[in-house]
Amino acid sequence: MRLLLLVLLISLACVQTAFAQTTPEALAGALQAAARAGDASGYQRLLHAEGTFAVEGPNFAADLGRVPQPTATYLFSGIRLDGPQASARLSLSWERVPGQMSRVLLPVTLFKVGEVWRYGGESLQALPAGKYSLLALDMPGLPERAAIIAPLLSQAAVRVRDTLGMEVPDAATVKVYPDMAVLSASVALSLQPVGGWNEPGEAIKLVLPGGANPDQELLRVLSHEFTHLSVSAAAGEGKDKRIPWWLHEGLADFVSRAYWTPGAAESRRGRVAGYAKADWVPLFELADFNAVPESQWKYVYAQGLGLVEFLADTCGKDVPMRLALAFAETGEADGAAQALGFDSFSDLETKTQTWLVAR
Ligand SMILES: [Zn+2]
Repeated sequence: MRLLLLVLLISLACVQTAFAQTTPEALAGALQAAARAGDASGYQRLLHAEGTFAVEGPNFAADLGRVPQPTATYLFSGIRLDGPQASARLSLSWERVPGQMSRVLLPVTLFKVGEVWRYGGESLQALPAGKYSLLALDMPGLPERAAIIAPLLSQAAVRVRDTLGMEVPDAATVKVYPDMAVLSASVALSLQPVGGWNEPGEAIKLVLPGGANPDQELLRVLSHEFTHLSVSAAAGEGKDKRIPWWLHEGLADFVSRAYWTPGAAESRRGRVAGYAKADWVPLFELADFNAVPESQWKYVYAQGLGLVEFLADTCGKDVPMRLALAFAETGEADGAAQALGFDSFSDLETKTQTWLVAR
């Protein structure tokens, strides 16, 4: 019996050695296997978490747990060893939408802990940005081009303060990506390509726009994402998720619409009036980001902003934020609406629709 136990222990040890990530290639294979199986905790064990990646990494892994990626392939190339670290390029492909492969190339950092390699996420270059942190993905030309963002950070923060009376936390970290596909691949493999991103505890992520005058577009995205950050900070630790997604986006667009073109503002106004009249999605269906299908995203932003504009116009500029804080306190829609003097949440929602149609 004792011999059997010994044999068992030895074979267990062999299995562990065989599966330990003693080379970057083995690490890529393990990341791929965990992504395919939707093994969130297994994926997380392969991460070297530090800085904002300490939050981003587990969130990325949790997405794999919710939406496994059975077609994902991970491949490191151009591996350059540098002491206990290595830089590499990660070729990542996966079928996010059936029949359509997504492919991105990311500069990444790997860490050697003892004999084992761990994945440290994207390689970034820090840029001077005063009290904020500004980082650009470390790929040719991007950090140089991203330097134009630095002076816009305080401008966007002033916009948040002037519109909602809130301060953007000094700890704000902004990471810059070359395009939407690469940005979304750094957030979650299930995420459709987006131009900006913020999640409590994570860095703000945004795409550096092309074109001759990117400042307006950058201020639009920065003021939108800074609003998310400030609203989360005001809600307090662990309470942010009680604020419905539609309200978060409504507040963020309420601030960033200052940088919309007249055409964009006009089209949004017409669209939400149409929704209010005949195509309104009940707001409780738009409360949880993870439960809202991509086809419904347009209602989240339009109806969210519509309700925020209704409150700001008819009750006062500070009232939309008071609604968010009431949600953060109670996590309950009727209580939050009653805190503003409405009979119920349904009363607030109906009055919003009536106002949007008549506006
Ligand atoms: Zn947003």
